[in-house]
Amino acid sequence: MSAAFDEPPELARLLEPDDYEPIAAAAAAAGTPVAIVDRKGTVLAGAMPGEIGVRRELTCAGEPIGHVITAAGGDAIADLVARALESAAHHSYARAMVSATHQAAMEVSFAELSQRNVRLERAVIRMQEVDRLKTNFLATMSHELRTPLTSVIGYAEMLLEGLAGQLATEQKEYVQTILGKADQLLQLISAVLEVSSLESGPLTFEPGDVDLAELTRSVIDSFAVLAHRRGVTIELEAGPRVVVGDRRKIRQIVQSLVSNAVKFTRDRGKVEIGFRAGPLRPSEAASRPALHFVVHDSGIGISPDAVAHIFDPFFQVDSSSTREYGGTGLGLTLAKAYVEAHGGRIWVETEPGAGSTFVATLPVPDGEPR
Ligand code: ADP
Repeated sequence: MSAAFDEPPELARLLEPDDYEPIAAAAAAAGTPVAIVDRKGTVLAGAMPGEIGVRRELTCAGEPIGHVITAAGGDAIADLVARALESAAHHSYARAMVSATHQAAMEVSFAELSQRNVRLERAVIRMQEVDRLKTNFLATMSHELRTPLTSVIGYAEMLLEGLAGQLATEQKEYVQTILGKADQLLQLISAVLEVSSLESGPLTFEPGDVDLAELTRSVIDSFAVLAHRRGVTIELEAGPRVVVGDRRKIRQIVQSLVSNAVKFTRDRGKVEIGFRAGPLRPSEAASRPALHFVVHDSGIGISPDAVAHIFDPFFQVDSSSTREYGGTGLGLTLAKAYVEAHGGRIWVETEPGAGSTFVATLPVPDGEPR
């Protein structure tokens, strides 16, 4: 039986008929009939004696809740019945108080949680809005920067070609530097644009068969001068070579991995690039067949702390302004997004001072690896 916490206790609400009727019946059987009445005098169990001899008050939590009434001489039974009823009423009242307190506490916590939820929802909406503004800003800025930069590059090329008159050797060198730096800037802006387009929606694809060995060869060629300057040799192993995917995005993956391998390898170092057959998602038993594009370098390696972040946008192990290696911190972010868009995985095995091995998996055409 439940009793409200803030109401005066009532015998009929504290106890069930099953609690007091057997007591009244037992008293009658023992030869001393009793009447159990509530605070207002209503008989709940037993029968009123012809003449009232004994009247024992029942209390609970200091409040009167009723009486036990017998004929004269029934003092002992009346006391016993009163004690049994008061004890049962007390326990029922205590249970009701505990449950009411618990419910009140739950209501308070629920109200607090609801308020916190509303605040969190508002914060998420605000953050999404800020994120959208940031993405739009990056995309607009990058576009606006790219247009004049393309002109700078175009005019520098025209100067070099002698379209505005022949340049002296030193002038040519200066213009060459302008061209190189403008190119670097263009690449940075393009990477920022690519990353912001990753955030603004699903990637668009133009899938087809791609000869990964041929594509890698052309990327290696574009790094030949830099590799030579750093005293780094690049080796390309033979193996299965055809993958399915978007050529431009696969080129970006290859370019990021090869560029990093050359950049982070010291003089007389070695970069080895190979292709192996393997599952597209190595952690899944029934994964479709794929080609593992493996780029191993004997370079500086990456510390365990940094490995967890190298695929994050703009992360660079050395982000100081005096850093030795250039870059944007976006190459691996894009590579990871593009590999995963092809259903593949990318990871690195590395040790500081002992080099790194990056592996990217890409799907292959149906049938035997080619
Ligand atoms: P970045 O333009 O700086 O190369 P990436 O996103 O390609 O940007 O790489 C992020 C960072 O991961 C790099 O700045 C470098 O600290 C680390 N890193 C990537 N590849 C290698 C590698 N082969 N050897 C050592 N460190 C690497």
